[in-house]
Amino acid sequence: MNDRIAAFGDRAAPLTLGIVGAGTMGRGIAQIAAEAGVDVILADVAPDAGRAGRDFVENMLKRKVEKGRMSVAEAEAATRRVRPLVLSDADAYRGFASCDLVIEAVVERMEVKHGVLKALEAAVGPDCILATNTSSLSVTGFAAAAERPERVAGYHFFNPVPLMRVVEVIAGARTAPGTVACLEALARRMGHRPARATDTPGFLVNHAGRAFTSEGLRIVGEGICGFADVDRVMVEAAGFNMGPFQLMDLVGMDVAQAVSESLYRQYYEEPRFRPSPLGAQRKAAGLLGRKSGEGFYVYRGGKAEPVDEAQLPVADSSRRPVWVSGRDEAASEELRQILASAGAEVEASAAPSADALCFVAPWGMDASMAALEEGLDPCRTVAVDMLFAGRGRRTLMTGVVSDRACRDQAHALLAADGTGVSVIHDSPGFVAQRIVASIVNLGCEMAQQRVAAPEDIDAAVTLGLGYPKGPLAFGDAIGPKRILAILAAMHDFYGDPRYRPSPWLVRRARLGVPLTTPEG
Ligand code: NAD
Repeated sequence: MNDRIAAFGDRAAPLTLGIVGAGTMGRGIAQIAAEAGVDVILADVAPDAGRAGRDFVENMLKRKVEKGRMSVAEAEAATRRVRPLVLSDADAYRGFASCDLVIEAVVERMEVKHGVLKALEAAVGPDCILATNTSSLSVTGFAAAAERPERVAGYHFFNPVPLMRVVEVIAGARTAPGTVACLEALARRMGHRPARATDTPGFLVNHAGRAFTSEGLRIVGEGICGFADVDRVMVEAAGFNMGPFQLMDLVGMDVAQAVSESLYRQYYEEPRFRPSPLGAQRKAAGLLGRKSGEGFYVYRGGKAEPVDEAQLPVADSSRRPVWVSGRDEAASEELRQILASAGAEVEASAAPSADALCFVAPWGMDASMAALEEGLDPCRTVAVDMLFAGRGRRTLMTGVVSDRACRDQAHALLAADGTGVSVIHDSPGFVAQRIVASIVNLGCEMAQQRVAAPEDIDAAVTLGLGYPKGPLAFGDAIGPKRILAILAAMHDFYGDPRYRPSPWLVRRARLGVPLTTPEG
């Protein structure tokens, strides 16, 4: 077996890969395999699809040559390795007889995939591995139609395959360990990071991605702020490449909502995955995103129209002195400095004067509750999210009865150095705290449920979703105790089991060990 695994992984070893379905995914897989010295048979029922797939590979490699990323000889040799095959009838499957591995990438329908699997088993040798690129069907269910399910596994690539350098390797209930090891070796040979995931709905990446958009929709659905402010905070403060609403517009609300509803059902109505009525409504309205010209944003010429921000208030001459709660020493000190640099008269006393504008910096708590808990006048109290406060945007939260002049003064002070400010209503956990804590909690729960190992969860999420850090590494950077405090406060306030902290998080936070700590 070790020789076989080595043959899959060694760039110099001859290997033949069959691909059934020469569409978006099939041709991308063909490109990276051919570049890694693998002979590829690119097959499709559509007569021209295999050839079009080979032409696609040729063009992509020519572009790499133009950019100086490979030589002309390498590109030509790789293109020659891709041979199209037309699957005109069942006999045509004999063309796969020499394959070491065949990956199916046909339409996402189990009965079609089962037909392909049966035709392949009749055509290939006894050791040939058979893999499916399905994103949402059960790998075990796919393998159930095989006579030898031990050689069947999931091999889930992401679009566009050459740029998304991660592939999930999914063992079905009867998949042999050697099958998984060969697929992992081939992934590395093609320059992709293999991430082992169990055969659970959404596997690893699509499962881990649930928290970002669903918590974003929850914030907007609760009237806390507009969608554009959620995106601004997540990009400019939390460091994501795009916000949840930009992402939903890119994916398309038809696809995004269908995936949300399907995963919610497959996990037997787990509250963490509860879809938002807002998503269903926008899908029904045809506000699908980029593809329909309008989603959350309006698109002209392929670009999103800017969404106006709250205007910076005109400076008020009757400025109050400011006072900062000392509950969290580090956060208070940083906030005091921001306010002092903006020219505020910062009180040093333990309690605020009768006239002071009071700042709090709570974790997982809203402005109204924080004012009550600290015994402050809720009319003169505002809250600032200090989670990413040093970064490019600040979040200012006002309470139900916050005085408008207090809000405006706080806004002006926080914006004085040119940093963007998002002003939001009462929200336990502001915007960034609750979205990031939800992402970390879900990653912890996936580790707890053994969906994947901690290092695979973090690697697959950064490579597959483009997050600045994997969920466990993100939690460790912020501090497991702080993430737990945010979630516990949210859970306490809402009473919604969606926010219940994962046992994986609770234990590691209380023990004071990193979230990446595996089970002993
Ligand atoms: P696609 O529609 O671009 O290509 C599918 C190809 O399969 C077509 O060329 C079609 O002619 C061919 N085909 C259909 N039935 C066939 C059959 N019985 N035999 C041979 N060829 C057949 O689809 P895609 O986007 O490449 O998706 C393929 C698979 O990959 C699906 O299972 C999908 O869920 C999965 N996937 C897609 C993406 C994505 O972003 N597109 C990402 C990950 C996984």
